[in-house]
Amino acid sequence: MARIETAFIEDMKPFGEDVAAACFNCGTCAAICPLVSDHFPRKIIRYVQIGAKDRILEHSRDLWQCLHCGLCTQTCPRGANPGEIILSLKRYVVANWRRS
Ligand code: SF4
Ligand code: SF4
Repeated sequence: MARIETAFIEDMKPFGEDVAAACFNCGTCAAICPLVSDHFPRKIIRYVQIGAKDRILEHSRDLWQCLHCGLCTQTCPRGANPGEIILSLKRYVVANWRRS
């Protein structure tokens, strides 16, 4: 079961993330994303908001599918910069990866 840690957004700041809180989960980024994949990136941004670190690590392969095309960032109505959130999450995953 995923744990929820509301302070996680603060933990992400060293990795370059400080705007995920602005996201209001409208889904525009998921609709415009050329990957058309399971509510990406909206869903993973929600994981950041609620601090579902386990889920982020479980779904980390999804991050590397991002094309960094910028469409999500261009169309986000809240300036949440989803493309940059994906980049910061890659840095977080690399820093926290543990072999089981
Ligand atoms: S478009 Fe912006 S506000 Fe809407 S779900 Fe994506 S990141 Fe959140
Ligand atoms: S930058 Fe990544 S997440 Fe955003 S629309 Fe492009 S492929 Fe999708």
